[in-house]
Amino acid sequence: MIFNTHTHLNDSQVIDVDTLVQNAHNNNVTHMAVVGSDFQTSVKALEIAKHYENIYAICGLHPNDSELFNDSLQIFFPLLQDPRTIGIGEIGLDYHYENTNKEKQKYYFEKFLSLASEIHKPVIIHCRDAYLDTYELLEKYHQKLDGIILHCYSGSVEMMQRFLKLGCYISIAGTVTFKNAKEIKEVVQSVPLNKLLVETDDPYLTPVPYRGKQNQPAYVVFVIQEIAKLKAMNYDDIAAITFNNAKKVFHL
Ligand SMILES: [Zn+2]
Repeated sequence: MIFNTHTHLNDSQVIDVDTLVQNAHNNNVTHMAVVGSDFQTSVKALEIAKHYENIYAICGLHPNDSELFNDSLQIFFPLLQDPRTIGIGEIGLDYHYENTNKEKQKYYFEKFLSLASEIHKPVIIHCRDAYLDTYELLEKYHQKLDGIILHCYSGSVEMMQRFLKLGCYISIAGTVTFKNAKEIKEVVQSVPLNKLLVETDDPYLTPVPYRGKQNQPAYVVFVIQEIAKLKAMNYDDIAAITFNNAKKVFHL
């Protein structure tokens, strides 16, 4: 069995959830976490989670969406407390685009970290071009948190070592299959097996050999294949190890 820890089956680009779930099952991808990026997509993630066995929701506010957010965070409370919601995310910092409102991003990131420390569910972190600020806030909260997942990790090996000391899990996405992804391949080679997770982040970041087409949860098999190659291990072992890690961090 395979646990895909990060899919956006709730994305507006996804037309036929049933077929994608079936494709995933045909590839032994039995468990998934559907991740919200704002209030509406979090509601949809939970709807999907309630509809399928072994599919769960992760609800939160993506840093890029936090810049447009003007509501009260209270609207998220019922979603976060629902038993089908197994984590809080994706939250974090993304300084990739010009003119990002870093202060607003940090404000909401910290609000959600503080909320997570009360609700006792793991946090799923989106971090892009903001590793130092992300580290600083996680360092402040990590002892109160119930688990930290760095989703689609794209930082350096050195930075990963620092995050590992905070107890973070490192989730690897389809970008590891890209030929020029030297740094992520190095990360995979040195990440400890007990901290490794796999994901697709679909419908984005389609792995080789389907690059250019729309991504889907079943394609996590290509992520596992590449990790197995890089770690000189069996495909089945990587599948089983990452499945058990996911069950552990999500308390399932
Ligand atoms: Zn995502």
